[in-house]
Amino acid sequence: MRRYFLKTFGCAMNSSDSERIETILESIGMEKTEMVENTDVVLLNTCSIKQHAEDRVHGFVHNAKKMGKIVGLTGCMVKNSSLQSSEIKDPLLKKYKKIDLVFRIEDILKLPELLKSFDPTLTQPELPIDELDYLNITPKRTEKYRAFVPIMTGCDKFCTYCIVPFTRGRERSRPFEDILAECERHVLEGVVEITLVGQNVNAYFVDDSVRVPLQRQTDFATLLEKVAQIPGLQRLKFTSPHPRHMGDDVLEVMAKYKNIARTLHLPVQSGSSRILRTMGREHRIDTFKKITTKARELMPEITITTDIIVGFCGETEEDFQKTIKLFEEEQFLVAYISKYSSRKGTFAESKLKDDVLLPEKKRRYDVLNEKLKETSQNENKRIIGDIEAVLVEEVENGMAKGKTHTGRTCVFSLHSSTFQKIPTSCVGKIIPVKITGSDVWSVMGEEIV
Ligand code: SF4
Repeated sequence: MRRYFLKTFGCAMNSSDSERIETILESIGMEKTEMVENTDVVLLNTCSIKQHAEDRVHGFVHNAKKMGKIVGLTGCMVKNSSLQSSEIKDPLLKKYKKIDLVFRIEDILKLPELLKSFDPTLTQPELPIDELDYLNITPKRTEKYRAFVPIMTGCDKFCTYCIVPFTRGRERSRPFEDILAECERHVLEGVVEITLVGQNVNAYFVDDSVRVPLQRQTDFATLLEKVAQIPGLQRLKFTSPHPRHMGDDVLEVMAKYKNIARTLHLPVQSGSSRILRTMGREHRIDTFKKITTKARELMPEITITTDIIVGFCGETEEDFQKTIKLFEEEQFLVAYISKYSSRKGTFAESKLKDDVLLPEKKRRYDVLNEKLKETSQNENKRIIGDIEAVLVEEVENGMAKGKTHTGRTCVFSLHSSTFQKIPTSCVGKIIPVKITGSDVWSVMGEEIV
């Protein structure tokens, strides 16, 4: 048993965790494959934020088992760490007999031992790491030019619709020095863009023992500033922050350092404060607007993106109209819109009535999506004629694609002198681009030499 296939579902945090799984598996001589057909073991790093995400995992498990593979699960769907044979089984193992093993991501170091029960010839890893903290495992980076660095895990917020606090556990910060050391190492190795990640990235504390429930002030601004000061780091991003902890201190640090991306993802979830209260969100629309107003005051070029749930329990047409109004006022560049679906084990599932019918949820989704197309197009149009720094992700036939410093997707033509060299060597470089056009989801331009 020497080959593994690893599929990651969900957010940047899971992508970062998967890079640590790869380090562990390769340290015991296993090799990654890109095709399920060619593998011995299928590992799924799962997301449980939506029922749909879990359904996709179940489909994957079913197909892999039909092909006779050993199947293991980690990530947000897993609550305990155990083997099929252990006394205290993870609920997943009880429910889905087809799964061979599960492990909590924090127990990643137990993975070789778990796999050994299927192949006793597997070696044990010899890793110079602090075994108590899986975040200290050096990630096997899939891209040379950018890195996702986890700074905290877990969530204390208990929004009524969300399962994450039950699967990921309480908020826990990673040591300050470890984060800085990892970021510095990435930059020395040629990384140009770092994204700090965490379930509530700005709920970061240098010392978790001073964490007080419902406290607003955290140490995220201090950490952000220190990372921004790393010589050679060209672009710094973070995801996902909670509006509750988005103080002026964070925005001021963003404004002070030009290498911090001018885009802010701030999940609002609804335009109605009444619904936010039912959702158990700890912000209201006026506080959300105060943050975006301040951000734009300090950084007029900034773009704002968000997450929205339509059709939450008790959402009336009047509440929904408030969400549309918020879109008009905020001119979001991107919004990840989802139709509410109840998640087993949450407060909303047991105590609130899922009373907006599916056709109405779909209608609200479509209406909001149309509104988003308008606001995104407006935001893209806003920078025609400007020069933007674009981090190149793909190059094909003289055209490059990447993200601007303001978070827009940009497609642009490379200058002939660049194209005549080795065009693919542009991937991972930050190139100045004159923006000449725009459409709904992107901007277009040409390289400036
Ligand atoms: S802040 Fe709310 S939505 Fe986000 S992970 Fe925590 S409980 Fe879930």
